Amino acid sequence: MTSYTGRFAPSPTGPLHLGSLVAALGSYLDAKAHSGQWLLRIEDIDPPREITGAKDLILRQLEDHGLCWDGAAIYQSQRLDIYREYFDQLKHNNQLFACDCPRHRIRDLRGIYDGFCRNRHLDFDSDAAIRVRLAEGDIGWNDLILGKQSISSSDLGGDFIVRRRDRLFSYQLAVALDDGLEGITHVIRGADLLDSTARQIYLHQLLGLVSPGYGHLPMVINNQGQKLSKQTHAPALDSDKSGENLALSLDILGLNPPEDISQSSCEEILAWGISHWNINSVPTNPVESSN
Ligand code: GLU
Repeated sequence: MTSYTGRFAPSPTGPLHLGSLVAALGSYLDAKAHSGQWLLRIEDIDPPREITGAKDLILRQLEDHGLCWDGAAIYQSQRLDIYREYFDQLKHNNQLFACDCPRHRIRDLRGIYDGFCRNRHLDFDSDAAIRVRLAEGDIGWNDLILGKQSISSSDLGGDFIVRRRDRLFSYQLAVALDDGLEGITHVIRGADLLDSTARQIYLHQLLGLVSPGYGHLPMVINNQGQKLSKQTHAPALDSDKSGENLALSLDILGLNPPEDISQSSCEEILAWGISHWNINSVPTNPVESSN
């Protein structure tokens, strides 16, 4: 049997909500149905967006739903030296450039960066963001849930940022490195990250890392068609309703659980989910939930 390593990678920007539970559960069930490992990575590389206490709260919420990860949780904030090393490698290979374009310029370009600073040779130590040169063309993969995907470099918005003006490494770089270096074989996560997947595959190619397989779960939306998130005021998961939350998430994942399953323990619900998991019945369109 081939080995399987999956992961869940929340950012500590607030407590988990139903949308995050669906991502956690989808990645957990796919890993466990393959007798695989399920790792937890806390993506805490963006201190300005971090909410105090969110890291511990997320761990507790996962435990309260019976979602136990394998091994110790990994914290991106402790891996900055690794990101720096690979950043330097990209820089050395002339795959990066500094860009001091103000935000309004990019907005005027409708978010599609035109390569203005590519050949300006700005100093990396100046007040500038660092972008990766994105070759023109399409980036494709065979999605485990959505089937064949292909995104063009212009749809991705062109050369993207790997180190921000405030010198923080970008989510794209950190995740591409962690997934590549931790030997993650399968990434199951929300469809809101499709564009990110294309960027991360591109970085794997530049860095000589093997890309995992990707499967994108349906976004969970509210009755106004908005993705559940902190911005849309999605309520925090209530651990006192762990059974109901898991049952609802199984339903969103297309598993059609028995109506009274929410009365069972989390362990029993998860065991039911593992034995009934079928990636082919996961919906491919956003799913509305009133929670
Ligand atoms: N940390 C990201 C988030 O919470 C998800 C990253 C991922 O699954 O790759 O949205």
